[in-house]
Amino acid sequence: MAKLCLVPTPIGNLEDITLRSLRILKEADIIFAEDTRVTKKLLNHFEISAHVLPFHSHNEHKALSSTIDKIKSCSLAVLVSDAGTPGISDPGFLLSRECVAEGIDVECLPGPTAFVPALVASGFPCDRFCFEGFLPHKKGRQTKLIAIEKEDRTIVLYESPHRLVKCLAQIEEFMGSERKVCVVRELTKIYEEYKRGTCKEVKEYYELHPPKGEIVIIIEGKNGKN
Ligand code: SAM
Repeated sequence: MAKLCLVPTPIGNLEDITLRSLRILKEADIIFAEDTRVTKKLLNHFEISAHVLPFHSHNEHKALSSTIDKIKSCSLAVLVSDAGTPGISDPGFLLSRECVAEGIDVECLPGPTAFVPALVASGFPCDRFCFEGFLPHKKGRQTKLIAIEKEDRTIVLYESPHRLVKCLAQIEEFMGSERKVCVVRELTKIYEEYKRGTCKEVKEYYELHPPKGEIVIIIEGKNGKN
């Protein structure tokens, strides 16, 4: 019986891969990878030899039916993205939906993802939260910001370093300068950093210290409570 297993990979620190993930990567008949070069580097590090095939985000729709055929022809197929959990702001959702529709077993192993440690360490309530991932760049961005402004739950965004200040300025514009945020940068890496404060304070900090690396923005829910 065919099975698809989504396997999370480290978001910076290679020690974060689980023993079970390593075993499943070793046992897989095929590993579908967002970028085969990135995945082969990881597999080489752990001395795993595997049959790795591409599963790109830009051809996720197109690649679907041939990927399903390949999954059906083996007993264990794995999907990995470059870092973190597949399907979380990465390719994965369409493939898992299609596998479910085709009656193929789907499983996702627990493991690294950026938003959980960022949320939990932010100091904002994490009993209820809302994950928005990357905001749309142009169309729909304003509508999304208006909706987020009303949100009582803690809000989680992914953002690139060169857009961070602009994004904080928009949070200030739509949610007021006193809305509290926590910007979490470079999780699990040498320069891991948490900047907490009002969006105005944190924006001013990053105007003076242009950020590098990978970023999660946590925004306190409206009225500061859940
Ligand atoms: N699948 C990944 C996950 O499970 O978190 C997310 C992939 S998405 C393409 C990449 C974004 O995740 C980055 O732009 C950043 O917002 C966030 N991210 C990934 N690694 C991170 C890290 N080490 N520190 C902070 N944010 C990170």
